[in-house]
Amino acid sequence: MVRQKLLLLVLLFPFSPDSLENCLGVIVQKFSLHNLYNSLPVRSVVVSTFNASLISAVQETPRIRSLTFALDKLISFKPGQFVMLVHREQGRVIKRAYSLCSPSSMPNRISLALNEMMNGTLSPLIYHLKKGATVELEGPYGLFTLHDSPRKKVFLAGGTGISPILSMLYELEQQKKMQDVLVIYSAKKEEDILFRKELAHFEHKGAHVVITLTEEASSSWKGELRRIDQAMLEQYVKKPAACDFYVCGSPQMVQSLLQTLAALKVPSEHIHHERW
Ligand SMILES: Cc1cc2nc3c(=O)[nH]c(=O)nc-3n(C[C@H](O)[C@H](O)[C@H](O)COP(=O)(O)OP(=O)(O)OC[C@H]3O[C@@H](n4cnc5c(N)ncnc54)[C@H](O)[C@@H]3O)c2cc1C
Repeated sequence: MVRQKLLLLVLLFPFSPDSLENCLGVIVQKFSLHNLYNSLPVRSVVVSTFNASLISAVQETPRIRSLTFALDKLISFKPGQFVMLVHREQGRVIKRAYSLCSPSSMPNRISLALNEMMNGTLSPLIYHLKKGATVELEGPYGLFTLHDSPRKKVFLAGGTGISPILSMLYELEQQKKMQDVLVIYSAKKEEDILFRKELAHFEHKGAHVVITLTEEASSSWKGELRRIDQAMLEQYVKKPAACDFYVCGSPQMVQSLLQTLAALKVPSEHIHHERW
């Protein structure tokens, strides 16, 4: 415990509150600081352990499944947060973070979108779970959550990075705030677009949704076909400095977008991000 506290101090010292918010998930997972996290004053909801039973597994893309679990007790989480999946094996405990993509208004079940990592430790096991299988979950964790502000919200996501954002979009729909939402979502190919039906639903409700492919598209593809870059943001976001940005995706994508947003003079307190 003392070792963990020292480690946390060393970790937190160089970070501003904003950067702490933006890398908390990675820190908690990488250094197994779950117990210490539970005692942090920034935590706004209670962290619990759940027994969860798989009630549906949907093949969303060739490599991603959305898994829905029924919980043994109610969960209270903020859209954008994640849970830790706990796997115990021969005295070893393995924990991995997975963002919740379901609405926070359904406290008896949760969904997550799982990408099977080749040669990964936990994701292949969870990916191939059969209906009725039970797992242990811990959570909720994370500060990548919606901030109340009158500014337009711009969501930039890549791959499974759309997961926490989906949960946020459900929340904004409930608050009838879809008109002030722009989502730019990047996937490699058309078959890799996650939650296409759900994104179409939010578009129907008034959000502006742009899907861009970075590798290839069929001749019938009508969306964008390039990476999310400064030119694309200048095209779709009229006054970037007056917007809130929520960015989620791979470390490389998030890093490059943070540089782009800085170049567009977006104040750092308007930028929230999560990466894995
Ligand atoms: C806040 C947060 C939210 C997340 N949300 C999601 C989500 O919603 N969906 C999702 O799919 N993932 C999410 N992740 C990622 C997830 O937590 C796991 O990191 C991911 O599933 C891989 O776990 P694993 O145990 O299968 O792979 P690991 O065993 O952790 O390995 C990861 C990769 O490293 C490689 N690797 C492992 N060991 C070595 C080695 N010795 N040398 C070289 N390469 C090696 C593996 O081949 C694999 O490709 C999130 C992560 C964070 C931090």
